[in-house]
Amino acid sequence: MMRKSMLSALALSLGLSACTTSPLGRSQLSLFDSSEIDQQGQQAFEEYRQNHKQATGRDGRYVTCIADAIIDTLPEGQGPSKWTVGVYQDEEPNAFALPGGYVVINTGLMKVAKDQDQIATVVGHEMAHVLANHANERTSTQSLTSTGVGVVQSVTGNNALAQLLGAGAQYGVLLPYSRRQESEADLLGLDLMARAGFDPKASIALWQNMASAGGGQPPEWVSTHPNSGERSEALKGRMQSAVQLSEQARATGHTPSCGNISS
Ligand SMILES: [Zn+2]
Repeated sequence: MMRKSMLSALALSLGLSACTTSPLGRSQLSLFDSSEIDQQGQQAFEEYRQNHKQATGRDGRYVTCIADAIIDTLPEGQGPSKWTVGVYQDEEPNAFALPGGYVVINTGLMKVAKDQDQIATVVGHEMAHVLANHANERTSTQSLTSTGVGVVQSVTGNNALAQLLGAGAQYGVLLPYSRRQESEADLLGLDLMARAGFDPKASIALWQNMASAGGGQPPEWVSTHPNSGERSEALKGRMQSAVQLSEQARATGHTPSCGNISS
């Protein structure tokens, strides 16, 4: 364990800002330039896209409708200038986000998320990872804790950064997020979907569906997370304020209706 003062000194010596604050007010270590991180996200997405078939039919339009509703009501000035949200052919019920504003939903997830509010829970969760700069934080933490100071000092070039970001991760889905980040994405994501007028209570049902879908590789967003019971308890703690956000949104005309898109 290194002391904070040592981390700060290290960051200063690298000429980088050491700390940022997440949208939920948590202090984060951010050693890397966000434009570099975004660029890595873009490259990883390009590679992913070349190797996966995009669903452009009903599933694609359905998710686009849901994502647009959330994007329209994001807090002013937050997040990337452009989001790229798509559905890709993959039967595993999973989703992931990349820095720079890329969100991928697998076709397999569309069978587990039963309605627009459950899908909005997933889209909100993934956008929350991007908005909270979780990739930068994870990479920064990883660079200090597992590879040591000597390596950090050499991690200033793009190649080294790419190695760190992509370590062991297929298509640069990046390092797995920490439990704390997953919890934060759950809560922030809940706010995001509620603010667009979706029903936040659907999040509980979604995680139950995810748990019972189980089997095989755990999805990105359950792999490092507390079990579904703990997850649901945390969501319930924020439910009252989320329901209020949703009611306010609906009272001001944000009443998304994406479920009726025909094939
Ligand atoms: Zn996640």
